[in-house]
Amino acid sequence: MMLAALGAAGQASADPATVDYSAEGGLPDGQRVSPFDLSSPAVYRLDPALLDAIERAADSAAAQGVSVGLTSGWRSPEFQQQLFDDAVVQYGNAEIASQYVASPQISKHVIGKAVDVGPAGADNWLIRNGSAFGLCQIYANEIWHFELASDYGGACPPLRPNAAG
Ligand SMILES: [Zn+2]
Repeated sequence: MMLAALGAAGQASADPATVDYSAEGGLPDGQRVSPFDLSSPAVYRLDPALLDAIERAADSAAAQGVSVGLTSGWRSPEFQQQLFDDAVVQYGNAEIASQYVASPQISKHVIGKAVDVGPAGADNWLIRNGSAFGLCQIYANEIWHFELASDYGGACPPLRPNAAG
């Protein structure tokens, strides 16, 4: 009930399209930044170990002709809340929304420990090769979302169905 109320409040707040979230880790829709672009808070506020891993993976992918960009990295709790509120509006309730967007309380983006990668060719490259850098796909329904999660043997954990599972 409380989350639904937040969603309703979100509708009454400023139009997200008019709010500048760049300092909160927001990136322009549809645009990607290089993991080497340290001018962006979405990049430089990542956990240093994750940033190092995605940069090493990007170098390796580039050597094979695959360009790795970030569509999202670190996000402030306020920005994550806005994304969650938007999802509640889009999907109609908090329970379904939480399968697609994590709340600020559990999102790994808020603590700089998750990256969203694009384009799809880069996602597929990382799914095949990312574990060599410690990078794992976490959710079956998010081929773009990666975290440092491989074990010392380089194996990734079993996929979870979605952000709520
Ligand atoms: Zn993500």
